[in-house]
Amino acid sequence: MSDPWARAKPRVVIAGGGIAGLEAALALADLVADRAELALVAPDPEFVYKPLTVEEPFTERPAERRELEPALARIGVQLVRGAVTSVDPDTRTLTLWERSRLPYDLLVVCVGGRVRAAYDGVETFWSNRGDLGVDELIRRAHAALDRGLTLLVPPATSWSLPLYELALLIRRRSDELGLGDLRLRLVTPESAPLIIFGSRASEAVAALLAARRISVEANRLVTQDTSGMLHLPPMGVPLAPDLALTLPVIEGPRIAGLPADPRGFIPADLHGRVEGLKDVYAAGDGTSFPIKQGGLATQQADAAAEHIAARLGAEVEPEPFDPVLRGQLLTGTEPLQMRHSVAGGEDAGTASLDFLWWPPQKVAGRYLSAWLGQPTLTDVEPPSRALDVEISGGTPREAR
Ligand SMILES: Cc1cc2nc3c(=O)[nH]c(=O)nc-3n(C[C@H](O)[C@H](O)[C@H](O)COP(=O)(O)OP(=O)(O)OC[C@H]3O[C@@H](n4cnc5c(N)ncnc54)[C@H](O)[C@@H]3O)c2cc1C
Repeated sequence: MSDPWARAKPRVVIAGGGIAGLEAALALADLVADRAELALVAPDPEFVYKPLTVEEPFTERPAERRELEPALARIGVQLVRGAVTSVDPDTRTLTLWERSRLPYDLLVVCVGGRVRAAYDGVETFWSNRGDLGVDELIRRAHAALDRGLTLLVPPATSWSLPLYELALLIRRRSDELGLGDLRLRLVTPESAPLIIFGSRASEAVAALLAARRISVEANRLVTQDTSGMLHLPPMGVPLAPDLALTLPVIEGPRIAGLPADPRGFIPADLHGRVEGLKDVYAAGDGTSFPIKQGGLATQQADAAAEHIAARLGAEVEPEPFDPVLRGQLLTGTEPLQMRHSVAGGEDAGTASLDFLWWPPQKVAGRYLSAWLGQPTLTDVEPPSRALDVEISGGTPREAR
């Protein structure tokens, strides 16, 4: 076997052209463009701004997409079209689409997770389909005996924010349709709404939901019986599946040749190094880090890129992944910005109508936010305070 490090420049291959993959490409292009040959493998020609797909059913406009090839060419990264079907760490070779082979010296696996339905027969929001018939769902639920639509956070979901956004956007749409008396309820295993952002942000979200007439039942794990009926503990009235909306469940990518935890996710350390493999790194939803979120995916990608850069001789002190959650909740009016240090030291978190990071992109990434650019001017105007709750000194209060 030839020594791949004998190449003039080592080849760093990034697998995946989503949020983590793009951040890794941008970071590596910045840190080691002169020391390495950079390539990114992706099955699709476009980057899709997944967090904005929640707006698609309401605006009928597709979420932002960007062609990968020209964007990568500008930063000196080659796009290789393909899906990695297996990794051979001994020969440092990827198999793409089960037919072609691509050698690497260092590999960053950013292939995301795999989604599956959480409940049978329940309307599911798939970010890659854009086929949620919101008006029909609203009308069907409004015609039911209790005029109710239930939004269900499935078990083992670490990133429930899109369901809260859907609830708020559905409320706006039901008002527009003249069906404002639709009863909206969100049922979640979380101990409080979006508690992952800390108690202060959670209180702000709870106040906002209440102001929008969306009730929340927390600490609830919904089960489904063989007839398809949904059951809310302890003894709620069974719920018909066609009166609910949910998110898919995410599982690991299970790529042959890479280690996987019991749910198929790739175990990686705080520098992104994949367990047991010297030259393989991983970042994003496909790793075993429990919170599947874009901003965290970029932080993992940055940690991996820095570690690689240091190995290639760049003057970089590789910082370990130190998760800080930054999230923007689409509310139907002004978005709510939230920030929370997951590793602790900041229990209550922060929630604000003002921007907490810049550019104020929905995914906060060191390189990616700037690459995505500033939102349009209308989006960055100072908040008009039209939101029906305002956060003041950390305590939400009803606006007058
Ligand atoms: C509706 C919704 C709303 C969200 N809102 C937010 C938000 O507001 N803020 C936030 O920070 N996060 C949000 N997230 C989460 C965020 O989108 C994910 O955490 C993030 O996309 C994970 O990045 P990733 O690169 O790991 O995976 P992905 O973005 O899924 O990218 C994976 C990439 O790998 C490619 N790929 C797949 N298999 C292979 C293979 N075998 N070989 C090569 N390439 C492959 C895919 O084509 C894709 O390009 C949201 C998610 C959803 C679904």
